[in-house]
Amino acid sequence: MGARHEHAVVIGAGIAGLLAARVLADHFATVTLIERDRLPDGPTPRPGTPQDRHPHGLLTRGAEVFESLFPGLRAELRAEGAPVIDFCQDVRFRFATGLAPQLASGILAQPVSRPLLEYILRRRVRALGPVTIRTGCRVTALLPDQTGRGVRGVRVLACGDRPLQATTITAQLVVDAGGRSSRLPAWLADLGLPLPRQTTVDPGVGYATRVYLPQPGAVTGYQHLVQPLRHPDARRGCFATTVENGRLLLALHAAHERAPRTDEEFTAFVAALDPGLAEATAARQPAPEIAQYSRAVNRRVHYHRLRHWPAGLLVLGDAVCAFNPIYGQGMAVAALEARLLDRILNRRPRLTGLPRRFHRRQARLTLAPWLLAAASDRCWQPGRPPLAARAARWYLRRLQRLIPSSPTVFHRFARVLNMLDSPVALAHPSVLWRVLTAGRRP
Ligand SMILES: Cc1cc2nc3c(=O)[nH]c(=O)nc-3n(C[C@H](O)[C@H](O)[C@H](O)COP(=O)(O)OP(=O)(O)OC[C@H]3O[C@@H](n4cnc5c(N)ncnc54)[C@H](O)[C@@H]3O)c2cc1C
Repeated sequence: MGARHEHAVVIGAGIAGLLAARVLADHFATVTLIERDRLPDGPTPRPGTPQDRHPHGLLTRGAEVFESLFPGLRAELRAEGAPVIDFCQDVRFRFATGLAPQLASGILAQPVSRPLLEYILRRRVRALGPVTIRTGCRVTALLPDQTGRGVRGVRVLACGDRPLQATTITAQLVVDAGGRSSRLPAWLADLGLPLPRQTTVDPGVGYATRVYLPQPGAVTGYQHLVQPLRHPDARRGCFATTVENGRLLLALHAAHERAPRTDEEFTAFVAALDPGLAEATAARQPAPEIAQYSRAVNRRVHYHRLRHWPAGLLVLGDAVCAFNPIYGQGMAVAALEARLLDRILNRRPRLTGLPRRFHRRQARLTLAPWLLAAASDRCWQPGRPPLAARAARWYLRRLQRLIPSSPTVFHRFARVLNMLDSPVALAHPSVLWRVLTAGRRP
């Protein structure tokens, strides 16, 4: 496809930024991706994405969209050692109500370390003709156009150089993919626009992650474990997954409690979880570092509701809607947003009116994953949750009680978690009947 537009700028070379650059390369003659970090030439963590020390997995729907945008990605990741697993067969799910049945489901996921995924995507995006990645540069402001109602580029500060070098870059389209640290509300205020409304749901969950290296000859036990929290009694949980080179990433999470920081705290926490976990970790060599993460707040910024929005400006990824990572949805949602942008640009290539078209449909797209995360997490907030949240909690608790004895219910639940079905599927008559009559039947 020939480029229809001249130049787009993308702020942030995280997952959403890389996906956006990939899509825009089909529609713009040049795309400049601006990243404040100096990006490593390999799969190593970096300061701008503190979440990259914690386990990441590509859930099914997300993996499919990534594959459609980067054909061959799954095989490339696999060649680097990232396994493809059956979500219901290879992962041990320990709910507060018991172990989920293990069954062949065909629901495929791919656990991969975040630095490896980002490195491979970056390599792919760099190889696209129209894309240039400028690293070590921080975007500090949006440039208003002559009318004052649109954006015509960004102001950029080269980090690290002394004296600091400020430049401007003009573009027909600016896409903010700056993640949770996006400065967009402040930049909009600089343009004279009101602050957008935000909804936040803070479950008060902190994470601590440690890497365990395989030891030659040792029996390693299981490879993947999910032990979710459940309000109010199960306040501790974990997510363990084996990624490339047999490394086990173990993330412990705790609600309204400080996540473990020391060796002793970590070991004691592990001992109180699924009994097989202590065995799985004992068979491996723990790395000394315990990475912390405490920004698990679900946050949805209602940009689509702003009456005035600058022409030539879009926002996607965690900058708009960020989820408690327990649900593993962020990258899949970013991929769906990028694909949405591609579809809109294919159907109506004109940039006029693009932001409104995109943000409205983006809001619809993020609603289901938002409800899934927010319905459960609201209960962890202080005060009485709203009626809808209480009803959702009641229903999910009963549903989880059924899972250990019902492969059908677990399969449906797994499809929703993998974003193959909307949460509405959990109210399918076959499930609804079981949930409502559970406890009444012998
Ligand atoms: C602990 C944890 C575990 C997670 N696990 C999963 C998982 O298993 N599956 C899943 O799908 N999702 C997971 N996520 C979510 C996932 O990390 C994000 O949703 C996803 O990375 C999309 O983020 P993003 O690209 O919008 O932002 P980020 O990845 O945060 O990237 C933003 C980028 O913008 C750059 N930047 C910011 N401001 C500027 C600026 N002014 N100028 C230049 N550059 C700038 C930053 O340096 C960064 O590189 C997890 C998140 C956490 C915290």
